[in-house]
Amino acid sequence: MERVLTVKRRNHGRNKTGRGHVKPVRCSNCSRCVPKDKAIKRYTVRPMVELAAVRDITEALVYKEYTLPKFYIKIHYCISCAVHAHIVRVRSHVGRRSRAPPPRFRFKDGKKVAPAQVAKPLLIDDAGWRQAAYGRQRKTRSVSGISLKTQALYATVFLTRYTDLFANFQSLYNTTMKVFFIASSLYIVYLMKFTFKATNDPRLDTFKVQYVVGGVAALALIANYAFTVQEVLWTFSIYLEAVAILPQLFMLTKTGEAEVITTHYLFALGTYRGLYLVNWIYRYRTEYYVDWIVWIAGAVQTGLYCDFFYIYFTKYVN
Ligand SMILES: [Zn+2]
Repeated sequence: MERVLTVKRRNHGRNKTGRGHVKPVRCSNCSRCVPKDKAIKRYTVRPMVELAAVRDITEALVYKEYTLPKFYIKIHYCISCAVHAHIVRVRSHVGRRSRAPPPRFRFKDGKKVAPAQVAKPLLIDDAGWRQAAYGRQRKTRSVSGISLKTQALYATVFLTRYTDLFANFQSLYNTTMKVFFIASSLYIVYLMKFTFKATNDPRLDTFKVQYVVGGVAALALIANYAFTVQEVLWTFSIYLEAVAILPQLFMLTKTGEAEVITTHYLFALGTYRGLYLVNWIYRYRTEYYVDWIVWIAGAVQTGLYCDFFYIYFTKYVN
């Protein structure tokens, strides 16, 4: 049985180390008396005038070299106020065991960051703490923002589509690509599940995937070209691919923001599907190629992307 500690933190959220008493300070917000070592301390530097007016005043200045004076304020917060104002956040059960100091954002990705930006990332999530603990670069070694469910669905798509891998040999290129698709998608799932477990947050990836897979499986059993195992699996993979992106899009709307690389990745995925539409039209014109299952699934998939494409274009193109 796991031993449950009766206290949240072994230092009780303090930094008193060996001292019997620490002088209290007053919370800047509510005036609560709080030990100085426990108080959340922030040193802020902000212009004397309100931020909105800084630019107007600077432009109106007669002496261009004159810099506006600044306030240098040390702020103390009690824990209640700091949590309420999101200056610090509750860390997860596991995360709060980490005693590593919070990451310092003075330098980010080797570049010096402006003090105003330094003040922003005060909210340090678990990944940030872990990163501090292991000295890991978050940007390059993280899967945050990527939906594990979507990746797992893609792996399923490839596994069910290429069941003819050993039975039907077309060309070396064809077989190599099939193996590559299956292996890479499984590898991604493995990485997300084990290697980058720390940065993969299941609380954000909450799309109810079982209903969709159930629905798709039922549809594949009803609407297919031939009722054989291989054919049903192939149909299943086509339908599943159309909706495989849903957990990712759902996650995106839930978090409200995405890292730039995630949106570009999604755009690439969507474009790849869009190019298929062009290919189908071309083949229909030249070869009288008709495949309703693939077409309808492709149209649904592209439709799901429309909303995302709209946001993408308004954000990056304009
Ligand atoms: Zn307070």
